[in-house]
Amino acid sequence: MLFLRLSTTDDEYIRIAEWMSRTIMTHKCVRLSEFSIKQMLEIKNPVLLERFSRSKQRIECKNGGGSCELVELFHGSPFAIEIAVSGFNEQHCKENNMFGKGVYFTKHASKANQFSWGANTGCPEHNDRNCDICLRYLLVCSCLMGKQFRATFQPLAAAPIGFDSIVAEPSSVKGIKYAEFVLLSGEQALPKVLVAYHAVRYQEQE
Ligand SMILES: [Zn+2]
Repeated sequence: MLFLRLSTTDDEYIRIAEWMSRTIMTHKCVRLSEFSIKQMLEIKNPVLLERFSRSKQRIECKNGGGSCELVELFHGSPFAIEIAVSGFNEQHCKENNMFGKGVYFTKHASKANQFSWGANTGCPEHNDRNCDICLRYLLVCSCLMGKQFRATFQPLAAAPIGFDSIVAEPSSVKGIKYAEFVLLSGEQALPKVLVAYHAVRYQEQE
């Protein structure tokens, strides 16, 4: 596998940078004013691509043919580099999450940013969830949604048998502010771009 550095003038770089800055939302705990992008690396990983294609075929076949919806989403994790190399593994995910076991994604970059160091953890060096010194990573991924279970409440222990993913929208689930996308198998996600960045600390307006 290899990482290809995207230039700041590449269309893909510009598109992702705009998407990131457009999706800075307000959060109670981790807040930031902007992303200061250090590097964007395109992930060229034939093993993961092959795994992803097989997963797509399996889902399409299981769901009676037809195309499988692909959604591009963010994932923030202290293990982003390892994921780029070895792929997602739902076995590493906790079961007591809001929508059960699975790999969680978001369309909001600031939400992915909340998970830079783990669910409720600060950076290892300063133990600060809002740290603007330590480098953070997030992944832009292609997600195979397959048969989607639309959540109507939380917590939800698991999706019913036969579904491939869970989608929870704030309009239908009380207590969530931003949409959640949960893939039940790690093979349903292909990490495409690794973004290394700093989160610029949020300043209250006087
Ligand atoms: Zn730090």
